Amino acid sequence: MAATLIDGKAFAAKVRGQVAEHVTRLKEENGITPGLAVVLVGEDPASQVYVRSKGKQTVEVGMNSVEHKLDAETSEADLLAVVEQLNNDPAIHGILVQLPLPGHLDEDLIINSIAPEKDVDGFHISNVGLLGTGQKSMVPCTPLGCLMMLRDHHGSLSGMDAVVIGRSNIVGKPMAQLLLGDSCTVTIAHSRTKDLPDVVRRADIVVAAVGRPEMVPGDWIKEGATVIDVGINRIERDGKNKLVGDVDFASAAERAGAITPVPGGVGPMTIACLLANTVTACCRANNLPEPEGLTA
Ligand code: NAD
Repeated sequence: MAATLIDGKAFAAKVRGQVAEHVTRLKEENGITPGLAVVLVGEDPASQVYVRSKGKQTVEVGMNSVEHKLDAETSEADLLAVVEQLNNDPAIHGILVQLPLPGHLDEDLIINSIAPEKDVDGFHISNVGLLGTGQKSMVPCTPLGCLMMLRDHHGSLSGMDAVVIGRSNIVGKPMAQLLLGDSCTVTIAHSRTKDLPDVVRRADIVVAAVGRPEMVPGDWIKEGATVIDVGINRIERDGKNKLVGDVDFASAAERAGAITPVPGGVGPMTIACLLANTVTACCRANNLPEPEGLTA
């Protein structure tokens, strides 16, 4: 393997350490404890695992964690009332409604009912607009984690050619906005892109966020490029269950300059950035200086 491994697990631990330090300072100097509320509707097993993990890590960095577990039949009005109560609670600085929601609930309506300054997922339409116009916003956690790793590896990203594969609202689009904000020349590729291999071969930075196991082979990667693999795909190989990314790691690592593994790359950064966003939201709510290096 020629490429440098970008270790997301170690990087996430460093981010959590920075968050914990800032939380200690907020408590000691300002008497404030940041609080994160997570709302889970229904019993989706994957969502339950995420919510448990988020709660555990929130407490580990010294913040207050509040969980609202509502049953799958919860009405839109009842869910909106829970969000409204959290919007008005001064002890809560971050609110996250775990997606996906059961089918009878309108996700856009619910997300847009969260106070934008507490929207630590960065999905509220106001935050999307602020990010798109280069203003201070809450930035979606997964792309924020990718940006932090890219900045850490390269220093400046200015003038680099970046290709983001995938145009979802959660990953692809905000990722492209962040790279543009750091003065990359950005291409967003998607399922209808013509000659994807050729588009990817031009990129100094490739961010793959598709959800198709190992769809990007090594021979699409420009020599020395940095590859950020957001994909999390569960496959069967040699009779075993395995997690793989959207990039064929073995062949891509032969050509890339640096690459994130799956697991242990982007994945751990997502919750670390959620905690970072919560401490940022708490500082903004109290007109205090924001922690450095934890925002876009
Ligand atoms: P999505 O399904 O919402 O979007 C996938 C995108 O890929 C679409 O925009 C589509 O146009 C594009 N696409 C589909 N087929 C394509 C093809 N053949 N060629 C090029 N583009 C194609 O998915 P998402 O929510 O953005 O997630 C993408 C992947 O990232 C998934 O594997 C998901 O599990 C993973 N993910 C990981 C994290 C994390 O690490 N914490 C967070 C979010 C998503």
